[in-house]
Amino acid sequence: MKQKKNTSALNEIEGVIQPETISPKAAQNIQQFRRKNISSEELISKILLGDKVALSRAITLVESTNPIHLEKANEVINGCLPFANKSIRIGITGVPGVGKSTFIEAFGKYLTNLGKKVAVLAIDPSSSLSHGSILGDKTRMEELVKDENAYIRPSASGDSLGGVARKTREAIILCEACGFDTIIIETVGVGQSETAVHSMVDFFLLLKIAGAGDELQGIKRGIMEMADVIVINKADGDNIKKANLAKVEFNRALHLFPTKSSGWNPKVTTCSAITNEGISAIWEILTDYIDLTKGNGFFQEKREEQNQYWMLETINEYLKNQFYHNPTIEKALIDTKQKVIAHHLSPFAGAMELLQLYNSLFILNKE
Ligand code: GDP
Repeated sequence: MKQKKNTSALNEIEGVIQPETISPKAAQNIQQFRRKNISSEELISKILLGDKVALSRAITLVESTNPIHLEKANEVINGCLPFANKSIRIGITGVPGVGKSTFIEAFGKYLTNLGKKVAVLAIDPSSSLSHGSILGDKTRMEELVKDENAYIRPSASGDSLGGVARKTREAIILCEACGFDTIIIETVGVGQSETAVHSMVDFFLLLKIAGAGDELQGIKRGIMEMADVIVINKADGDNIKKANLAKVEFNRALHLFPTKSSGWNPKVTTCSAITNEGISAIWEILTDYIDLTKGNGFFQEKREEQNQYWMLETINEYLKNQFYHNPTIEKALIDTKQKVIAHHLSPFAGAMELLQLYNSLFILNKE
């Protein structure tokens, strides 16, 4: 049928055909995943083949609060475990604005150019409130996101650092089974999250920028002590001189710390995440560290210790959740808190009263 020519100004003209944002094949895969209730076995085999869609799906299961999802997540993790562990895990921390995402983009691209497969995960316990202050917005790491050999996952959300850390820890296993040989865990340099990251990585990198002679102020001693390398970023343009001065000062400060049990002397270096100057030197420092610690057995020892630590942490987290989410305890806690505030009970006696009440619930249940 011949169509009447529509000359109305309100009519939309036909534009150019827009290219697909993702390949039709990938879109089809995603569709299939969404539609199908994929089994754990199928997820495991796809992850082992390097399928990033399956990897994302498994991490989503790990992050779920639904007990059925968690059961499935555990099956997938167990299936992946024999294929995990073969990677270098790097922790990166620094205060907001220091250049973490710019640095990870530059470093990540450097590594993928070397033929590495890089996964970037994040620990940001505030993300459930701020909807992801790190790795949250899509504009970060634009180049790395598009790299076929990179995988970037924003921080899991959760009501406690312990919860977020557990999810990230399990995501590491899944990424490794999926073939990623370099895992970068990013965290914001505030609060306790550095300790959590430190307890799941082989190498810890502290990112800094040069200030005006006050380099050592405002950094918590503990964070400096954890660092295997301190990288002074933004060493470009007028900043180069200041960055070099900062390097001298940090080096001097590091000498005051006791020798690490790894046998490694922490290094200080400068770089520019924008010009890429100094990026390759960081990789060299990292490989020196790995060679040393694999040679003296520390690398393996640390991983074994970390595994034990995470088992105990998981038990602690589980017990805490069981206790605080128990309806009887929830109610009694309000009363007991009031008694402690009013000095009718000491904090210790209050705690014992609640713990005894909790124990008695199980004795009653048994009978
Ligand atoms: P983050 O909050 O730690 O992730 O920091 P960003 O990566 O978002 O960087 C904060 C700002 O510093 C951005 O405007 C970056 O462009 C800038 N920046 C990051 N790295 C460098 C660098 O090496 N040199 C210079 N001159 N600017 C940088």
